[in-house]
Amino acid sequence: MTNGRNGTSPRSRRVVVIGAGPGGLCTGYKLLEAGFHDFVILDKADGVGGTWRHNQYPGAACDVPSLLYSYSFAMKRDWSRPYAEQPEILEYLESCVERFGLEPHLRLGTAVRSAHWDDECTVWRIITGDGEELVADVVVSGMGMFNELNQPQIPGLDDFPGTLFHSARWRHDHDLTGESVAVIGSAASAVQSVPEIARQARQLHIFQRSPQWVLPKDDTPFTDEELVAFRTDPMAARMRRWEIWRMLEGFITFSNPEALAAAEEAGLANLSVVEDPEVRAKLTPHTPFGCQRPLISNVYYPTYNLPHVELVTDAIAEVRGNTIVTVDGRERTVDTIITATGFQTTRYLSAIEVTGRGGRRIEDAWADGPQAYLGLTTSGFPNLFMLYGPNTNNGSIIFMLECQVAYIMRQLRRLDDEGLAWIDLRPEVMERYNAELQGDLDQVGVWQGGCHGYYRGPTGRIVTQWPHTMFEYRSRTLRPDPEAYEVHRGATLATNALL
Ligand SMILES: Cc1cc2nc3c(=O)[nH]c(=O)nc-3n(C[C@H](O)[C@H](O)[C@H](O)COP(=O)(O)OP(=O)(O)OC[C@H]3O[C@@H](n4cnc5c(N)ncnc54)[C@H](O)[C@@H]3O)c2cc1C
Repeated sequence: MTNGRNGTSPRSRRVVVIGAGPGGLCTGYKLLEAGFHDFVILDKADGVGGTWRHNQYPGAACDVPSLLYSYSFAMKRDWSRPYAEQPEILEYLESCVERFGLEPHLRLGTAVRSAHWDDECTVWRIITGDGEELVADVVVSGMGMFNELNQPQIPGLDDFPGTLFHSARWRHDHDLTGESVAVIGSAASAVQSVPEIARQARQLHIFQRSPQWVLPKDDTPFTDEELVAFRTDPMAARMRRWEIWRMLEGFITFSNPEALAAAEEAGLANLSVVEDPEVRAKLTPHTPFGCQRPLISNVYYPTYNLPHVELVTDAIAEVRGNTIVTVDGRERTVDTIITATGFQTTRYLSAIEVTGRGGRRIEDAWADGPQAYLGLTTSGFPNLFMLYGPNTNNGSIIFMLECQVAYIMRQLRRLDDEGLAWIDLRPEVMERYNAELQGDLDQVGVWQGGCHGYYRGPTGRIVTQWPHTMFEYRSRTLRPDPEAYEVHRGATLATNALL
């Protein structure tokens, strides 16, 4: 009997995938392709798309050229512009559900509360938000890195009587027209949303902690001729994708001093449109380019020339009623506060309760910050794979996810082919890998710049970034490493099916 997408035999493992973002959807496609049919994709959201469903603030857009931001096996060639906006990306990801045949496998509106490895039955027990238990042989976590909102700790903020929301939970039911608005934060989400908010608000105050490098982007919408060429000639789009890939590869290791200097020059030229020298000085970064996530926008800096837009760099002391009070004693009364303060990026799987062999909690395994072999597996947690896990953030994440899913599929086939109940990463392999990785991270000069970025965990280790090229990641995830895992033969004791 054959019923995998490529005519492969059906596979027996039950797989729970947490998250229906780009990673979860890619996993679903590849599971079906490899002949695994007994799987569910759970997402706490009511729809698929992950980041691109949750982040609907005005101006939200890709900052990797879009021709590189679609799956290689389902490439979107006709993006309307070089850096597509959120609605177009979400539409693409939603269209993948039907295209990949994932509808029957999706369980939306289902949060995963915990996952426990059962040593006796050698299965994972996954508990959902409403207390249901799912039993699986394998768990793939596609929870993403940008899901736990970071809320600023400001006295009085919770009692603000006006409208308060985080940029990643945009209130479409709230009209900012004619309002006095405060945006707290000046990083990625603020850079994209501030120009749009300024169009509606009567008064806009932007509270900045540290200035960012914001580079210009070449984002002229594609012409009809270009779109026709991309649609009718797959090679034209592939060639453009390849050029983007090469450009990114030359950049993302932040190791080329000329490229770094050129980026800073481009950032300063972009900033030079700000007319008020005092405002321009406050917006000038004092850390090296690359120290934090590089940002791009052609419309952010010009916003500061508008008479109703104010940049505030004094720290906020408290929120008192409708008034934001800064440490210099100045008061600004606002109708709405938007916290563009990003995400708790360093929690990974420890955002939910996870226990592995011997009931060990993942927080304890990660006392020194999250770590995983190739960002994928952590010792003591058998048959548990992570997508976009520790130290895999760099380049086009869709590409990185595809490498991760390919790796996981190889391990799943191995379980079946060799009749294994589980595999577990050897602790010494994880230690060796992470020691080497930390050494490599130390070599990336700009990441040592002491920025308030999201790269470092509470103990100071860089836990989010991949220090090499995407090609290097692909090579390493392709390399066979059967000896890296302790294996256990036999069948599992629990036999329910997921579907
Ligand atoms: C504003 C913004 C812009 C970005 N721009 C780019 C870009 O230009 N290029 C790029 O490469 N990357 C970008 N990224 C990174 C982006 O997150 C990844 O590209 C990609 O979305 C990661 O996919 P994912 O499936 O791993 O995670 P996500 O897209 O984050 O999806 C994770 C899913 O898991 C679900 N989930 C989480 N916890 C649970 C739980 N306990 N139970 C059930 N479901 C759960 C969430 O609801 C979500 O749907 C951006 C991120 C943000 C926030």
